[in-house]
Amino acid sequence: MLNAAVDGIESRAGRLSGVWLADGRWFEAQVAIVGIGMLPNVEVLAAAGAKVTNGVDVDAQCRTTLPDVFAIGDCVLHPNRFSNAGVVRLESVQNATDQAAMVSRILTGETARYDAIPWFWSQQFDCQLQTAGLLHGFDSTVVRGEPKSGAFSIIYTLQGRVLALDCVNAGRDFIQGKHLVMKGVVADAETLASTAIDLRSLVT
Ligand SMILES: Cc1cc2nc3c(=O)[nH]c(=O)nc-3n(C[C@H](O)[C@H](O)[C@H](O)COP(=O)(O)OP(=O)(O)OC[C@H]3O[C@@H](n4cnc5c(N)ncnc54)[C@H](O)[C@@H]3O)c2cc1C
Repeated sequence: MLNAAVDGIESRAGRLSGVWLADGRWFEAQVAIVGIGMLPNVEVLAAAGAKVTNGVDVDAQCRTTLPDVFAIGDCVLHPNRFSNAGVVRLESVQNATDQAAMVSRILTGETARYDAIPWFWSQQFDCQLQTAGLLHGFDSTVVRGEPKSGAFSIIYTLQGRVLALDCVNAGRDFIQGKHLVMKGVVADAETLASTAIDLRSLVT
């Protein structure tokens, strides 16, 4: 249910019993999963004078606006060519570790800049979830594979250009599809949907 506000969560005998919605509907429930978002802990850097907007602002080398102070991971708003806003704050293990590796190179005297494609993974019971790219701004989606089979991908495009993929038990699509995002490949929906066509073959 979208746009449904929770009015109250009730318990009976010390256990969750159900949820009231603002429109008066009642749903019995045994488990509540609460998704309330996250706020980055930026107070220390803000107090030290670093520029803070949506997280700590950093450049392509993860430098804050304070001299010799770098920041990485969930708390940083960084330039990212895969974001339609040009900058993004990413909450993913991969982003944190990739930025750590990049900053390590800079601290040891190499030149480097952060240009990794955003990707995420999670394992939920028998579901391997992987996403590549950022879907913001998409105007179409293509389903590749058969959702009922438990293995499929959803491909997000903007005017035919592949922006992102959500892959469910479809590691091959994930690995190959990443390259479509990195290269900004344009392909028609029928081609993207056809599992007979390797996504890799669409990379020019
Ligand atoms: C429930 C949950 C599930 C997730 N699942 C996935 C997943 O499946 N895949 C995925 O890619 N990502 C997942 N993430 C996101 C992932 O955990 C984060 O992106 C990653 O941990 C970010 O690393 P980080 O080092 O930037 O921040 P953190 O891991 O949050 O580390 C920041 C550390 O700084 C400490 N800290 C904060 N303020 C101060 C201060 N003032 N002084 C000293 N220490 C301070 C904190 O205590 C914390 O230990 C999940 C996150 C949550 C909460």
